[in-house]
Amino acid sequence: MKIIGLPALVGSYDNYIWLLVKQEMVWVIDPGQAQPVLNYLASHSLNLAGILITHYHHDHVDGIAELKKQFPAARVYGPQKTPNNLIEQRLVDGDEVSLFDDYHLKVIETPGHTYDHIAYYNQQDLFCGDTLFGAGCGRQFDGGYDAFAKSLLKLRALPDGLNFYSAHEYTLSNLKFAQFADPSNVDLQNRIATTHIEYPQPLVAPQSTLKLEKATNPFLRFDQLPIQETLLARGAQNTPESLFKTLRDWKDHIDQKGYPAK
Ligand SMILES: [Zn+2]
Repeated sequence: MKIIGLPALVGSYDNYIWLLVKQEMVWVIDPGQAQPVLNYLASHSLNLAGILITHYHHDHVDGIAELKKQFPAARVYGPQKTPNNLIEQRLVDGDEVSLFDDYHLKVIETPGHTYDHIAYYNQQDLFCGDTLFGAGCGRQFDGGYDAFAKSLLKLRALPDGLNFYSAHEYTLSNLKFAQFADPSNVDLQNRIATTHIEYPQPLVAPQSTLKLEKATNPFLRFDQLPIQETLLARGAQNTPESLFKTLRDWKDHIDQKGYPAK
């Protein structure tokens, strides 16, 4: 099996649509656009087996209708709570989806970015949608900060060795904030020095590993020193919800206003 990240909505949302390819069959995760997927399938003579959805946002679901039109036999799986009637098979925490004979993904509910968000994982791979990004995480829309913090800690409890695939390529800008929030982190310095992003080239390797994210992503480290101390000094209370919200608000503020002058 091969896993390929197809760039989509380049320049606006900078998504990856992940394709899982075995022989002539393909599963896609979060097709926010149909055309990049259709082009890839046509040029490689592939067939669409099914679609997995992580949450309701349009940049993750807008390609479903066209893909279903071209491949009516493809099955569409998504969260129980997602308000989208193109989803045929509804998933809750602990469910398993069999993509190929020897490749299955488990569902883990990760509300926070949105109230309906789920991620998919097995012993090799983690597809975390907009819950986590390389060196960052999604914004809190309607899932709540407390739920989001708990979801991040749930993902942090998964094995280090997992290959990491998120739904967007925001790593470089996330690394700038990570460096600002966690300036003494040596693993983070090494990551910044060795990261080369080729987006919008298709990606034929994982974006990252969960081990690297645990070591360098501030949104998996908000309750650990030294970030915890920084957040307490910025007014956070010592709870996962408050620490996470203080960190997320800090990044949202910088995203809007830019970094403060030194
Ligand atoms: Zn989203």
